[in-house]
Amino acid sequence: MKREQLLSEEPAAELPPILEQLTIGQRKILIDHSALYNRLPGDFKIRLESLMHIFLREVTFEVDGFSEVTEEMRICVAAEACVLILHLGYDSYSQLRRVIISKDVLKRDGKECAGWAGRHEVTMYWDACLDGMYWGSDNHNVILHEFAHVLDQADDAEAQSIPVAVDSVAERKKWEEVIACEYPKIQAAQAWLSLKHTIDKYALTSNAEFFSCATESFFERSRELQIDHPEIYELFQNYYGLDPVQWEEAKSRRDSQLTFIKTFGPLTFVALVTGVVFLLGMSGIIPMAGIFCGFVPFAFLILGIVYWYLLGPKGDLR
Ligand SMILES: [Zn+2]
Repeated sequence: MKREQLLSEEPAAELPPILEQLTIGQRKILIDHSALYNRLPGDFKIRLESLMHIFLREVTFEVDGFSEVTEEMRICVAAEACVLILHLGYDSYSQLRRVIISKDVLKRDGKECAGWAGRHEVTMYWDACLDGMYWGSDNHNVILHEFAHVLDQADDAEAQSIPVAVDSVAERKKWEEVIACEYPKIQAAQAWLSLKHTIDKYALTSNAEFFSCATESFFERSRELQIDHPEIYELFQNYYGLDPVQWEEAKSRRDSQLTFIKTFGPLTFVALVTGVVFLLGMSGIIPMAGIFCGFVPFAFLILGIVYWYLLGPKGDLR
């Protein structure tokens, strides 16, 4: 059909919507920083990018401690926040007005934290945001966590880990039952090292935290949550309208790096150094003194641990 014909026909609203997409540079930011974006199937990325454009139009960004809001901040926050609403749609954030990015760690009641959120505003510590996005399966993601708080409060301004509408009685009852059932299990996992729970123990700190912590697990430890706690996975699958276990087929480069570094990184490092020292000793380049051969690998083991401590995920702040 010719374009002139299309333009002359009524109603114009029947034309397919023009989906706004990201530029190559903006996509590169996400490829470099967001494990979750890398894991999304292609059609989800298209939907995400359209939602991000609405988000970036509707929400004001401010910084505290930085000289300016960067493109990296806007794109990364918008992307991670909009993953949560891929199925829910932008209306879920209709009351959100402002995102504040802090250069320094936040403090509340004398304790350090990575963020807080209400219906209208989200404040986050930027280093924690970057760390949370980069490591896609460590169960910590500040942006997902804080925007889950926004969703939780969207219906009734109350952060109580029940994100469904106040008038959906049956659904709310279901949420209450699952939370009442899981709290003791998370408490038990906190008390006994032999027990474990996919959802982080931070969920126990207040009624508001279960939904946000479980959201992090839903997206970052999807398969583990589905296998160990299928009733929670199903509840979140129905709420978000998403099935992130299916996305794991396309595991991100970041996830592979994390698994490799966590499992083999320090060990490989120490083994290589030990091998090199041994070969140098065997070839007579250095004296084959036992104490030296013992000391050097030990020193490198310490360096390996320090390396992991400095560069590995540091997700304890929320
Ligand atoms: Zn929280």
